[in-house]
Amino acid sequence: MSSLSDPVSVLKGVGQRRQIALNKLGIDTINDLLTYFPRRYDDLSLKDLSTALDGERVTVKGIVITAPTVVFFGRKRSRLSFRLKINDDIYNVTFFNQPWLKRQLSLESEVIVFGTFNQSRNQIQGMKILSQDQNDAYDSIYPVNKEVKQATIKHLIKLAFEAYGGQLVDIVPTSLRKKYRLESFHDTIQNIHFPESPIAAKKAFRTAKFMEFFLFAMKIQILKVTRRQEDPQAQIKYNPQLIQSFKDQLSFQLTDSQNKVSHEILTDLQQPLAMNRLLQGDVGSGKTVVSAIAILATISAHKQAAIMAPTEILAEQHANNFAKMFAKFNVNIALLTGDTSAVARRAMLPRIKDGEVNLIVGTHALFQDQVTYDNLGLAVIDEQHRFGVHQRQALRKKGTSTNMLAMTATPIPRTLAITMYGDMDVSIINELPKGRKPIKTSWITSAKTEAAIRFVKKQLQSGNQIYVVTPLIEESEAVDMKNAVAIYERFKAIFEPNFSVGLLHGRMSNDEKDQAMVDFKNNQFQVLVATTVIEVGVDVANANTMLIFDADHFGLAQLHQLRGRVGRGSTQSYCILIADPKNEIGKKRMKAIASSTDGFFLSQKDLELRGQGDITGLKQSGMPDFKVADPVGDLNILTVANQEAREIAIDRNWQKKPENVQLAQYLKFNQTITTD
Ligand code: ADP
Ligand code: MG
Repeated sequence: MSSLSDPVSVLKGVGQRRQIALNKLGIDTINDLLTYFPRRYDDLSLKDLSTALDGERVTVKGIVITAPTVVFFGRKRSRLSFRLKINDDIYNVTFFNQPWLKRQLSLESEVIVFGTFNQSRNQIQGMKILSQDQNDAYDSIYPVNKEVKQATIKHLIKLAFEAYGGQLVDIVPTSLRKKYRLESFHDTIQNIHFPESPIAAKKAFRTAKFMEFFLFAMKIQILKVTRRQEDPQAQIKYNPQLIQSFKDQLSFQLTDSQNKVSHEILTDLQQPLAMNRLLQGDVGSGKTVVSAIAILATISAHKQAAIMAPTEILAEQHANNFAKMFAKFNVNIALLTGDTSAVARRAMLPRIKDGEVNLIVGTHALFQDQVTYDNLGLAVIDEQHRFGVHQRQALRKKGTSTNMLAMTATPIPRTLAITMYGDMDVSIINELPKGRKPIKTSWITSAKTEAAIRFVKKQLQSGNQIYVVTPLIEESEAVDMKNAVAIYERFKAIFEPNFSVGLLHGRMSNDEKDQAMVDFKNNQFQVLVATTVIEVGVDVANANTMLIFDADHFGLAQLHQLRGRVGRGSTQSYCILIADPKNEIGKKRMKAIASSTDGFFLSQKDLELRGQGDITGLKQSGMPDFKVADPVGDLNILTVANQEAREIAIDRNWQKKPENVQLAQYLKFNQTITTD
């Protein structure tokens, strides 16, 4: 019996060689072929050039009135040209690098040309010559490679649709198709490959996008439901009075936002389910104290907690902070990093193993083989985007039924949060502690650098410290370092001996980096010239100004993170962006960051201005690849599809409902998604 999962080799004309070539395009099965969608559609209906726009792609029919000639430039490049008479007007037609087309042309004969219209030159830059008897109104253009031609793929799709079209059953439940006026799967495929009009194709794509998002969302929801199965061991029966007295003795009042997310987290911990929660909050929004509440709750329930940070210095900072915060609460804290001496480790490990240590603060060292926990009830991951999925998993697996709290300041826009963290619960801190002075950000061109340096000098004279961030050259640490060193020398020449200047770059060892950070923190030097390695959450309260060179090379979210390093103390803080953006988008980006201090707004803006592909690091952080749908451009469809999937999956018996039979069947064979 034939099925959509048959290999493409069942089609006539697909031998071994062609099969391999198709595989390279990602086409293995008939299903792959039928869902191999066109990149664009060319309008093949004849166009009246008097109504055509400059630069428009047009199809025209005319008489060749000069002998076609081919001129070669070098070995591979050529230009074919001739004049074409359409009605009573004469146009120049050129084809680049397709010399063989000359054979299809002859003087005084009729020809149909498809190409780009250049109005001012009265010219058509030809793309293809169409046959006289072709009668499709629209030509689907597929992404192809050297081995598979347009005509071939088109022909194969036609064959496949004729033979297998009847097997395209609907996976999306009928009620949803009705509600959102979606087409049947059969019609969707037909209208995408062989549309009668661009509108028909567009409608079909809408259904295809919905389907893609919906199926993705179903997979995530199923994962979530399975994960959220009863697990009494995960339950944290904490002591509410203790939490209250912890809050009461803090030197500040929690913000409403902090209270809200703390409540969400505590409620979650109390459930007999393993928590899997992401805590998002802008730089400086106070995530640490929220994690402290979760940690203390866990310890009050006689379980251990661990917090993992991406760098030694951050781990140390946390250890110090927690020691202060928990001073009155009888919590045993251990700091375990790569720097911990062998002697200290030997003493520490048994105390972790037998439960004497309640809170373990550290780096990647926390999930090493030699480290055994007594009963790890909560794993907190700080700056979670700095860790890979496996590292986060590894820490969690150090316990059974361990609750997980991942924290990030990377303001993932709502758009992407649904797709990236679909299976996590998300808590958001959306306000900063009161009384913070917003960082004053300004954008200047490099011509004004001297003025910026004068400003910096004034700040230094008032006793403040300064960060100088050097240009970011994509993917070249060596060049970054050279730039950093050059700027370092320049600032030394300007400021020494009155103020001393330090240097921090990616080529330094971790120890050297930490040392530089510690020295800066201790005001050993007043100016720190650094590449982006300072990005992660180190607190130097006395630093109030940041100067960023070539700021337009950074993502807005990254700039926002960077400037979050200043503005931690009580004095007014400043961020000066030096940039000469080359285009409007670049200028808009600089204006956006200078005018807003809202990380979520900025990352959404960046996404809109640069497109999702460009967002540094998002690809690595597990952003799923969609075939037809775009999580940014198609946000509305995504949101709706996600809601509907949730409503279906929440019912434990959804698979048994008749209208979900096809969906259940499909997901049973396609549940291949993996997230953490
Ligand atoms: P982040 O969310 O970037 O990790 P931190 O937790 O490091 O931020 O908090 C930044 C600073 O704000 C810390 O010095 C912290 O003590 C302080 N802080 C946190 N919450 C409040 C609050 N509600 N009121 C005043 N200061 C606060
Ligand atoms: Mg932090």
